[in-house]
Amino acid sequence: MERVEDIRTELGSRDWEAMTAHEAIVWGHERFGGQMVFASSFSLEDVALIDMACAAGIKPRVFYLDTGVLFPETYELIGRIAERYGIAPERVLPQLTLDEQAQVHGEKLWLREPDRCCGIRKVQPLRRYLAGQDAWVTGIHRDQSPTRAGAPRVTYDEGFSLVKLNPIVDWTTEDVHSYIAERGVPYNPMHDQGYPSIGCMPCTRAVRPGEDPRSGRWAGFQKTECGLHGR
Ligand code: SF4
Repeated sequence: MERVEDIRTELGSRDWEAMTAHEAIVWGHERFGGQMVFASSFSLEDVALIDMACAAGIKPRVFYLDTGVLFPETYELIGRIAERYGIAPERVLPQLTLDEQAQVHGEKLWLREPDRCCGIRKVQPLRRYLAGQDAWVTGIHRDQSPTRAGAPRVTYDEGFSLVKLNPIVDWTTEDVHSYIAERGVPYNPMHDQGYPSIGCMPCTRAVRPGEDPRSGRWAGFQKTECGLHGR
């Protein structure tokens, strides 16, 4: 990859806010080709991005962090997405199996130290995976949480040392729902059962009407992010 200073200069010369999500994905594809990867937890946002890329004639390289404790519905959705779009999502694993983690750190680490657990099962695997890429695409958008309110559409990700594209950063949650419905994109049925945000089984619960959509993640902890974004 080129020098970081050159990339920062290039990124700083463009008006990303004037770009649409579609244009950002196409730009990323033309600029980085197969060295641009789509991070996916198979959320509504993530499946919308996969659909958008495929509709633009791009075969996205999709990867997911398999913590070993995802919902059966999520694994089932991965199969449906793979079939529908003819893609083979790359499964990124932690270095420790769940048994090994329990031996080293004790049983159910997520109940005691979710930051350490996310570090082992998400952040470290992501760091290793992204080390070989030039750009990553995420589905974050500004109205999801205060920590994401200032997210740019395209930036140099200092935390992981590569370009980060957030094509739908200016979309609202309603925009995402409309896109999914209009395009008939496959999605996790749990979203219709009170789970607006779906992560690992031990750290996700249903949200009651009127609650913050992300309050169902790490309930009982101050934690609101895995540590993958907001750097
Ligand atoms: S979301 Fe929970 S189970 Fe999943 S890696 Fe983080 S702490 Fe562990």
